[in-house]
Amino acid sequence: MSEAEVQVRKIPAPAVTIESKPFWDAAAEGRFLIKRCTDCGEPHWYPRGFCPFCFSENVAWEESPGEGVIYTYSVMYRSPTGPYAIGYVTLNEGPAVLTNFVDCDFSKLAIGQKVKVKFQETEGGPPAPVFTPV
Ligand SMILES: [Zn+2]
Repeated sequence: MSEAEVQVRKIPAPAVTIESKPFWDAAAEGRFLIKRCTDCGEPHWYPRGFCPFCFSENVAWEESPGEGVIYTYSVMYRSPTGPYAIGYVTLNEGPAVLTNFVDCDFSKLAIGQKVKVKFQETEGGPPAPVFTPV
């Protein structure tokens, strides 16, 4: 593959399981879901079948606006597939999401910067959540 063909870093298709299928179905519609415990009220990410705070199995899907701030990030300038940036976003609801940052000047990323979710095509799977500065 020539360098000219590398436009956007390809994201591998996510593994869709019975447990995560509602998330990926929503992602295909451009909706970002998190899970919230109906016993202690705490939201969590990544979505699990039990609450990581009180271990209750009473957890429910909840649509999130997918807005938050950059907690930390790292830019990989030397990569065979071109530069990319990864890091953690702290959602406004509280949980931290490990993600890719896209559609931005990586040299201008900053801790505390406001970002919002968007969905990026993957190789043969449902679109994956990524974040971009707002
Ligand atoms: Zn709980």
